[in-house]
Amino acid sequence: MHGTPLAIGVDIGGTNLRVALVAGDGSLTARSSERIGTDPDAVVARIRDLCLGLRSSAVTAIGIGVPGRVDGIRRTVLSGGYVDLSSSRIVERVEDAVGLPVAIDNDCNMALVAEMAVGAARNRDDVVMFTIGTGIGGAVALGGRIVRGTATAGQLGHLTVSQGGEPCNCGRRGCVETTSSGTALGRHVREAGLPPETRVEDLIQAASRGDARCGEVLLRWVGPLRSAIDSMVAAVSPELVLLGGGLGGAAHRALAGAPAVSPWYRCPVGAAQLGDDAGVIGSGLAAARAAGADGGPAVSGKPAP
Ligand SMILES: [Zn+2]
Repeated sequence: MHGTPLAIGVDIGGTNLRVALVAGDGSLTARSSERIGTDPDAVVARIRDLCLGLRSSAVTAIGIGVPGRVDGIRRTVLSGGYVDLSSSRIVERVEDAVGLPVAIDNDCNMALVAEMAVGAARNRDDVVMFTIGTGIGGAVALGGRIVRGTATAGQLGHLTVSQGGEPCNCGRRGCVETTSSGTALGRHVREAGLPPETRVEDLIQAASRGDARCGEVLLRWVGPLRSAIDSMVAAVSPELVLLGGGLGGAAHRALAGAPAVSPWYRCPVGAAQLGDDAGVIGSGLAAARAAGADGGPAVSGKPAP
């Protein structure tokens, strides 16, 4: 059962571009996914063409989720990842070509919008989300709204968990991204002398059978993540901490071996539900809300009173 499409959702993942029509109930139609290169002009042109193909009288807006530091208020990409869109004028170029308003934001903010609307954080207003993939992203919602600060709040991959630890892309050392991302898990596996092709599911299964070495690798991976979660619980007292991204479900299972050690930090931790669709769904819903198309509040997961 699909609702009427409200917006076009665009999610620029690491090397993948996902696009779909998004209805108010979060359902997707006309979805596509393709690999992209690193040329920002080519990526913007491809997004423009896909949006032109999906434009109709029912569609009121376009939402674009981008990894990294994005100023969603001023609609500017501030830093580049696999594709560097920071000087691509992506918002203006897509708006001018397609004739619809464009909302742009960090991909984790978009994913949290989706999880609060139709996923694991429905009916929650105060939520912290870590997205665990190649790196670690994050998003925070308080009072039903994404927290932005002056621009880029929610870069939770850069919470320090190990002073003097491994160097991080941000220029510091010991950020949780350097200990608990997918990249870091690969390093823990190598350092433990396990085969490089070892999957996280293999580790979880072996650890559950009592394999101490695999259990230790998992603890090296999610122990620092537990510290980062505790820090966020101390800082903002959320109702729920969500773990999303490609490794969010596995991290959630592995965290059972690293429980909160003090009652101060016993906040529920859950796995995100929307998987790879979260970014597209959230981008579409956020854009429709920014355009005033769904009549609903900005982000709130709770139904209107
Ligand atoms: Zn960092």
